Amino acid sequence: MRLQKIMKTIIRKVKTVETVMTDALMTAIGTITHVETQDRVAALTFDDGPHHRYTPRLLSILERHNAKATFFVVGEAASLHPDLLRQIAEAGHAIGNHSWSHQSFPLLTRAERQRQLHACQAAIKPYGCKLFRPPYGHQTLGSLFEAFVLGYRVVTWNAVGEDWHDRAAAFIGEKIIGEIRPGSVILLHDALFNFAEERHADREATLAAVEHILQRLGSEFTFVTVPELFKYGRPGKVIWRREPDDALVKWLESLRRSDSASFREGDPACWRGN
Ligand SMILES: [Zn+2]
Repeated sequence: MRLQKIMKTIIRKVKTVETVMTDALMTAIGTITHVETQDRVAALTFDDGPHHRYTPRLLSILERHNAKATFFVVGEAASLHPDLLRQIAEAGHAIGNHSWSHQSFPLLTRAERQRQLHACQAAIKPYGCKLFRPPYGHQTLGSLFEAFVLGYRVVTWNAVGEDWHDRAAAFIGEKIIGEIRPGSVILLHDALFNFAEERHADREATLAAVEHILQRLGSEFTFVTVPELFKYGRPGKVIWRREPDDALVKWLESLRRSDSASFREGDPACWRGN
């Protein structure tokens, strides 16, 4: 009994040390959620595109309001729409890496994660900057460390409209208007790369919400790209550790099986960056 108690205490202490070490490393590298500034600037970011139907309309809305944004594109989608990628870049927006085929990084091996990053970066050449947003926001110390070693800054968000759910434009817009602060990074989607139901892929509500946000805040805030936002202050970093729960793992595994097949069999150009 006494030995068992000692062993339990040792295991508890080892786990505590492990957590402290992990937190220390995650803090040292950091995940950027915003920029510390008093200036009324913010960064709209759009994930999962480009999308042939929604991205051009989004570009028109942004242009009309003289707003710049950052597109965290999925390599597979970018490689299908090089014209859209060029349009985004030529309009003065920034393009970041959102992986090749939008898989949850904690579920991949180190080599698979690196291939995802390299393949997307090759697809967004010559416009891409070295910003990475993990698919689903999922991240472990290992995946953060790898992105860091490969020269990426990991950028998540501190304002979110939850537009991957079946939300009305008013909900998305008002939620972001309520959460936005000077230096905020805002998460929205001009496409959904993976979705449970077809209706979730519809981006009409997001487009209407962007119009609403820019109408309401356009005179109060300047909307800039993430690289531009960094010029206004120190990046605000947090410990960002998120892993999929069991139900999500099952769903993602089923997606991954089909995605992996297309990843292996797809355009060999996607492997050139390895
Ligand atoms: Zn995404």
